[in-house]
Amino acid sequence: ATPTAVMVGTGLGAESGILIRGGESLERAHQVDTVVFDKTGTLTEGKPKVREIVAGENESARDELLILAASLESASEHPLGRAIVRRAEEAGLVLKSVERFEAVAGFGARGVVAGRSVVVGNRRLMEEEGLPLDSLDGRLEEFIASGKTCVYTAVDGMVRGVLVLSDAPKESAVSCIQRLKAMGLEVWMITGDNERTARTVAGEVGIERVLSEVLPGEKAEKVRELQEKGRKVAMVGDGINDAPALAAADVGIAIGAGTDVAMEASDITLMRDDLMLVPRAIRLSSLTMKVIR
Ligand code: ADP
Ligand code: MG
Repeated sequence: ATPTAVMVGTGLGAESGILIRGGESLERAHQVDTVVFDKTGTLTEGKPKVREIVAGENESARDELLILAASLESASEHPLGRAIVRRAEEAGLVLKSVERFEAVAGFGARGVVAGRSVVVGNRRLMEEEGLPLDSLDGRLEEFIASGKTCVYTAVDGMVRGVLVLSDAPKESAVSCIQRLKAMGLEVWMITGDNERTARTVAGEVGIERVLSEVLPGEKAEKVRELQEKGRKVAMVGDGINDAPALAAADVGIAIGAGTDVAMEASDITLMRDDLMLVPRAIRLSSLTMKVIR
C-alpha cells in the first residue's frame, strides 16, 4: 500500500465523517464480505421508550411497580434502565433509595430498594431466579408477538409486573442494509435481546440472518465462528459489550455517538449517526486499494 493512496483514502473518509485508523484497516475493509450489526443503539435509535405497564388492576399498582423498577435502574447505565427512569420522572414519581445494586450483564439487574428485594430484567433472568411467570403470559402475548421488549419486575420474590418497551430502527438502517446487499455482502444482526424482538427489528430493516439471545461475553465468539467459516467480517457496534467483538472482527466499526470503549476497540469510527457511512467506508477502502494496485 502506497502511503499516498492511504493518505488520500483516510482524508476522503474524514471529510465524510469516517475516521480510519491506519492503512491496514483500509486494506482489511476492502476484503470484507460479511457485515455484522449490533441491534440496540446501532441499528436502532438506542432510545427505547416505555409503551405500556402491565401490573395489578389499577393505576396505583402500576405506579408502585414503576417506582421500584426505576429506583433500581437509576443505578444502571443500560439504555432500557435509562428509559424506565425517564418514564418515572415524566410521571412525576419520587424514586426510592437504592441500598444494593448489581447489574447482570445481558439479563438485567437486581438489588435492594427501600428494604425490598427487586429484580428487573428479561424472562431468562426471572427463570434463573426461579420466579414463576405464568400469571402474566396471557397479558403479554400481544406485546411479545409484535416484538416489544418486556422487562419483568419482581419484588420480594414475586413477579409483580412488566414494563413494555420498544426502540425504533434508525432512519438510515433500511437503505444501509439494501446498499450492503447490493454490494454483494452478507448481513447479520447480533443481539442479547430475545428471538422474537430480534426477528421483528431485523425484519423491519431487511436483515434475514439473526443471532439473538447472545450473551455480552459471547458476541466475539460469534464473530470468530463466522471467520472460521472463511468469512471476512466487519462488526458494527456502539456498546461496551460490543468491544470484544469489534476487536475480534477483521474490521471493527464503532458508532461515534456510542461508548469510548467501543471506539477504542475499533479500526473505524463513524462521526455522524448515519448508517450509510458503513457501505461508504467499505466502498472507500475498495477504491483506495484499486488506486494502490
Ligand atoms: P443488546 O445486545 O441488544 O445491546 P444486552 O446484551 O445489553 O442487549 O441485554 C440483553 C437483554 O437483557 C436486554 O434486551 C434486556 O432484556 C435485558 N437487560 C439487560 N440489562 C437490563 C437492564 N438494566 N434492565 C432491564 N433489562 C435488561
Ligand atoms: Mg448496542
